[in-house]
Amino acid sequence: KILLTASCVAFLAVKWTAPRFDPESLRGARVLVTGASTGIGEQMAYHYASFGAQVVITARREKVLQKVAEKCLSLGAQKALYIAADMASESEPDRVVDFAVEKLGGLDYVLLNHIGPSPFSMWEGDVEHTRWLMKVNFFSYTQMAWRALASLEQSNGALVIVSSLLGKMPSPFVVPYSSTKFALNGFFGALHHELVMKKSNVSISICTLGLIDTDAAMDKVRAHTNVPAYPSADAALNIIITGATRQPELFYPWFTHIVTLSKDWFPSITNYIIQNSYRYTP
Ligand code: NDP
Repeated sequence: KILLTASCVAFLAVKWTAPRFDPESLRGARVLVTGASTGIGEQMAYHYASFGAQVVITARREKVLQKVAEKCLSLGAQKALYIAADMASESEPDRVVDFAVEKLGGLDYVLLNHIGPSPFSMWEGDVEHTRWLMKVNFFSYTQMAWRALASLEQSNGALVIVSSLLGKMPSPFVVPYSSTKFALNGFFGALHHELVMKKSNVSISICTLGLIDTDAAMDKVRAHTNVPAYPSADAALNIIITGATRQPELFYPWFTHIVTLSKDWFPSITNYIIQNSYRYTP
């Protein structure tokens, strides 16, 4: 009871003291969204579009990106451009940032959101997949962040990292994925300190998401758990607001914050719950 009350008070305090979001601040904003052909990234592109932003979207499938860009224009985007790229490549992450900077004349927001597909199953020693996933889900993020930093510095811009509860709390069936998200939290958490110490103009927001109802996520977990999933459009809006108000962290849905605290305060209970939240027979 004490934990719950303390967490609720902390949550409400954060909500009340957070700066107000002004949608007008995004009119004309120059935005790059990765992993925007589907899921949360696609929803973020539509929100930015309806706020009148200029967006560059990227993922691997050009035809799908084209459709998303067309919908962005119909929703009110001032510009909607796309560039197909594979984030496992060593050169593509730089090429995407350079494209966005050139086409938009700079960047105000960079939302790093893409993930490579990864199986939902026990780890059977596939080191090669883990190495590949680190390239897509982690190294490309570090590379794009570095490439975009000078432009964001000029515009007083924001870098938003889409991470996961599984980057704070190890869970079964997602060993490689969870590793990439832990790496992101460590890297961008540390970089956040450095930017503040350097009095940089760039804000970093790290978004911790629980289960979101994207097709990709639901196809994987539906048969294994009854954990409730939250709507991708709402998750996307919360991520955008977090970046626009330059908050260092987002927990969505809100109780993911309590879950991350409980893992340290009550490790045995948390481990028991995690290991028994999935249907599994050895
Ligand atoms: P999706 O699988 O729906 O979307 C992934 C996106 O990444 C797609 O646009 C895909 O497009 C792109 N992508 C995949 N591989 C590559 C690649 N090699 N290079 C470039 N782009 C690639 O993911 P979600 O929307 O579900 O997740 C979005 C973010 O939210 C992720 O960072 C995820 O970790 C996080 N998150 C999601 C949760 C959920 O339950 N959905 C929970 C917690 C966090 P294409 O195939 O065209 O390349």
